[in-house]
Amino acid sequence: MRYIEPHGHMVSRVTDDYQDMAMAGCACICEPAFWAGFDRRSPEGFYDYFCQLTEHEPKRAAKFGVPHYCWLCINPKESEDVRLARDVVALIPQFIDRPNVLGIGEIGLNKNSRNELQVLEMHVDLAARLDQLILVHTPHLEDKLKGTRLILDVLKNDSRIKPERCIIDHVEEHTIELVLNSGFWAGMTLYPESKCTPARAIDMLDNFGTERIWMNSACDWGVSVPLAVPRTGLEMRRRGWLAETIDKVVFQNPARFMGQCPKFKIP
Ligand SMILES: [Zn+2]
Repeated sequence: MRYIEPHGHMVSRVTDDYQDMAMAGCACICEPAFWAGFDRRSPEGFYDYFCQLTEHEPKRAAKFGVPHYCWLCINPKESEDVRLARDVVALIPQFIDRPNVLGIGEIGLNKNSRNELQVLEMHVDLAARLDQLILVHTPHLEDKLKGTRLILDVLKNDSRIKPERCIIDHVEEHTIELVLNSGFWAGMTLYPESKCTPARAIDMLDNFGTERIWMNSACDWGVSVPLAVPRTGLEMRRRGWLAETIDKVVFQNPARFMGQCPKFKIP
């Protein structure tokens, strides 16, 4: 089954994961900038991370025949220090034209704090000025609905931002409608424990349709399954979905969203 992993934190995975993903039909991987499993203390730490995402990780992926794209930002989990965030955001323009960079992400909120909000606005302004796509992380559990509302307000209040150029990731049953009804794209993150299971994701597709939606595995530092997207594709088949519709959700939709960046080549 051909599919795209549109949100995978490959720097936290072993090469065996690349091999498994390639064998399962992964046509390309897109890696948003995120937490490294520990807090970085200086802009230099982020400089090195941006080099890892734009130089080293694409080479590692290429060994398995998988094109690798990325997104750049300081993630919300490390955005409490506004001064550090300002210095990191200032590094981004020198990396933005690199061939595998698709846009700004994953930005957003983690604890919905005032400082995180300020850093979110900084990133949205940067994306608008540089005419970049945006990938958004929404908070977990009880903070999710409030955080999603705050994020959508920031994006809607900036007249330079087009909703069809933003994806709001980690949606759940209580936030997906809000996102889609405002014209944004929605991402469902498939996690074995928290976030969204394959069964819940397919129920959401049943209820809300297959327009402007993608699925990803996140495959990060936590308990996550790098093959969650093709496994969910199999489960869709078991539940009677047509192969063509499965292909739309796991391949054509992410290709259409990321194809808005001229650097993205349909694999
Ligand atoms: Zn992520």
